[in-house]
Amino acid sequence: MKVPKKGITTILKTGILIAAAVPLGPSNAAPQSAQFGPSNPFYAASTLPLQAPPFDKIKDSDYEPALEAGMAQQRNEVRAIAENPDPPSFENTLVALDKSGQLFHRVALVFNAVTGANLSSKLEKLQEIEAPKFAAHRDEIFLDSKLFHRVAAIYQKRESLKLDPESLRLVEHYYQQFVHAGANLSEADKVELKKLNEEESTLSAAFSNKLLAATKAAAYVTTDKKALAGFSESRLKSAAQAANDRKAEGYVLPLQNRTQQPDLASLSERATRQAIFEDSWNRAERGGTNDTRETIARMAQVRAQKAKLLGFPNFAAWKLRDQMAKTPDAAVKFMDSMVPGATAKAVAEGKDIQTLIDAQKGGFTLQPWDWDFYAQQVRKAKYDLDEDQIKPYLELNRVLEDGVFFAATQLYEITFKERHDIPVYHPDVRVFDVFDADGKQVALWYCDYFKRDTKGGGAWMDVFVNQSKLLGTLPVVYNVANFPKPAPGQPALLSFRDVTTMFHEFGHALHGMFANTMYPAISGAQVARDFVEFPSQFNENWASDPAVFNHCAKHYQTGEPMPADLVANVKKSAKFNQGYALTEIVAAAELDMEWHTLSADAVLEKVDDFEIQALKHKNLFLSAVPPRYRSSYFAHIWQDEYAAGYYAYLWAEMLDHAAFEWFENHGGLTRENGERFRRMILSRGNTEDLGKMYSAWAGGEPSIEPMLKFRGLVPDEPGK
Ligand SMILES: [Zn+2]
Repeated sequence: MKVPKKGITTILKTGILIAAAVPLGPSNAAPQSAQFGPSNPFYAASTLPLQAPPFDKIKDSDYEPALEAGMAQQRNEVRAIAENPDPPSFENTLVALDKSGQLFHRVALVFNAVTGANLSSKLEKLQEIEAPKFAAHRDEIFLDSKLFHRVAAIYQKRESLKLDPESLRLVEHYYQQFVHAGANLSEADKVELKKLNEEESTLSAAFSNKLLAATKAAAYVTTDKKALAGFSESRLKSAAQAANDRKAEGYVLPLQNRTQQPDLASLSERATRQAIFEDSWNRAERGGTNDTRETIARMAQVRAQKAKLLGFPNFAAWKLRDQMAKTPDAAVKFMDSMVPGATAKAVAEGKDIQTLIDAQKGGFTLQPWDWDFYAQQVRKAKYDLDEDQIKPYLELNRVLEDGVFFAATQLYEITFKERHDIPVYHPDVRVFDVFDADGKQVALWYCDYFKRDTKGGGAWMDVFVNQSKLLGTLPVVYNVANFPKPAPGQPALLSFRDVTTMFHEFGHALHGMFANTMYPAISGAQVARDFVEFPSQFNENWASDPAVFNHCAKHYQTGEPMPADLVANVKKSAKFNQGYALTEIVAAAELDMEWHTLSADAVLEKVDDFEIQALKHKNLFLSAVPPRYRSSYFAHIWQDEYAAGYYAYLWAEMLDHAAFEWFENHGGLTRENGERFRRMILSRGNTEDLGKMYSAWAGGEPSIEPMLKFRGLVPDEPGK
C-alpha cells in the first residue's frame, strides 16, 4: 500500500543554508539587544546531547527576538563575505557561506517543528509576521550581486581548483541556487521579484492558518450515537475523548487533511458518511475568513509572474530545473502514461462496488462517500479481511520496536534506546538514542505520533540539527504523524496504512540520520523533491516483507502472531483498490501541474471551475473518484513547497519499487545490502547528481514496470 505523505517540511521557506548550531565563539557572538541576550535559550548552542533543543527552557516569547537576532547575524556574516577584499576563494566564499546563519538555523528549525506540530495562537501570529521576513532574508542573500559575483567567479574556474567531488558539488549547488533565485536579474527586476516573493510567502502563511482553522471547524460533531453505527468501541471512545478535549458534547471526528476520511470505511449510516465527506470536501470553501480560494488563485498568479521574471514559461518549468525529472514535460508524460491504466482499474473497481450495492438493494448510485465502506466489504468478500480484524495485531509499540527498528537493525546494524532525560515540546513526544554497530552514537530520533488539534495534518520528518562534518554536528531528527490517540490506558492499535506511514517517515529519518557529509547545505534529506521520497517509500516495502511483518504483527493481548491466512490476505489485499488509490493521486498531481503551468498573463482563476476543467482535460473527472486533495486544501502545493512537485511521490515510487526489486534479486533483508544502500545512497545527501547516484547504486536506469506490477496494473507473472 502506497500512501503519499506530507514528507519533508521545508525549513520556513528559507530553503537555504540549513546549517546546524555550533558553540558561538567570541568572533561569532550573537548580537545582543534589549530583547535578546544570554537569557534566551537560543542564544548559544544547546549543551544537551547532540545539541538537542532545550524545550524545558524555550517559551513562545523566545522565538521572535532569537529569529530577528539570527537574521541580523547572518546578514552581517554574509555582508562580510561579499565585501571581503581578498579575491574570492572556495574557503572565503562558499565555506564561509555554508557556515553562516547558525543562530538563525538553530531557532528556525525549532520554530518550524513547533509551529508544525504544536501550534499556539501566539506562534501562529508570529508565523504570519515572520514568513515574509524569512523570504526577504533569503532574497537579500541570493540577490546580493557582490556575493553572486564571487560565487560566479569560483564557479567559472571550478574545474581548475582541484576540489574534491563534494566541494565541487557545493560550488555548483550554490551557483544554481543564486541563478535560480534571480541573481542574474537587473536591479529593477530584482526589486519586483522580492515583492512577489514576499507576497507569495504571506499568502502561503495565510493559507496555512486558514486551512488549520477550517479543518478544525469542519470536524463532524454529533451527540447521536446511532449516526456512528459501525464504529468499534475503541473508535467510539476516542471520538468521545476528542469531544471531551474540545469541551464539546457527544462525539467529534476531526478531519484528516485528505479528501477521503478513514472513518467512512466503517460508518454504516449513509447520511453520516455523506455529511463527513461534504465537511471534508468543502472545508475550505464555506465563504468567510477561512475560505482559501482567493488566496490560492492569487498565489498561482504570483508564481507564474515570478517564473516569467526569471525567464521561464511557467512556474513548473522554473521549479523542475534542478529536479531529477528536469522539465514539466517529462513529469507530465510520466503521469499521463499512468492515467488510462489507473482509471480503467478504478472504473472496474467501481463496478464491483455497484454490483454489491445493487445486491444489497441499496437503490443508489455509488458516490465517493460510499466507496471505502463498500470497498471494505468487497475486500472482505474477496479476502475475508477487515481492518478491525487486523488492528489488534498492529500495536504501535510493537510495530515500532519489532518492526521499524528491527528492519533497520537487520539492514544497518543500528540499535535504539529510549531516553527520558531529553526535554520535549509535548508529553506525547518520545526520544531515542541511535547507535551504530560499533557502539558510536549516530543520531537522536524523536517521534510524535498522535493526532491533536494543534498539529498540522499528515505525517512528516524533519531535523532539529543537521549533520555536518564542517560544523562537527550529528543529526537530531524527528518524525510526526496523526495516528488516532487511544483513550487513556488503551493500546494504540494501527491500521496497516498507519504502519506503512511509520515505515515511510522512518525512511526519511534514516536519510537524515545516516547523513555523512562535510557541508550542511547538501547534507541528509536536502535533495530534490522527486528523490527525497525515494528513501521513505523504499522503506515502506519492509512493512509487508514477511521477515519484518511476522516479527511485529502479534496480538497485543495474547502475543499470538497474526494467523497465516490473515497475513496472506493482508498481502494480497495490498493490491486491492489500487485503481482508486492511484487515480486519486495522479489526479492531485496533474491538478498541481495544471495550476503551475499557467502563464503569467493568465487571468485570476475561479478555483472550482479551473479544477473541473483541469480534471476533464486530463480524463480524470470521475464522479466517484475525487482527487486526493482538492485545490482549496491542497497543503502540499500551497504551503509545503511541493508546488509543481506532487508528481514527485509517484516518481520516487518508480525508484523505490525498482530499488526493492534490486534488493529482492540480491537476497532481500541482509546486512550486506543495507550497508551498500547506506554507503551509496542514504549517507550521501545531495553530494552528487541524483540520477547518477541512483544508477551507480542500481547498475542502471530505473524502470516503471516494478511499480505498475506492485499496483496490480500489469498482469503478474504466473506463480507470483
Ligand atoms: Zn515522505
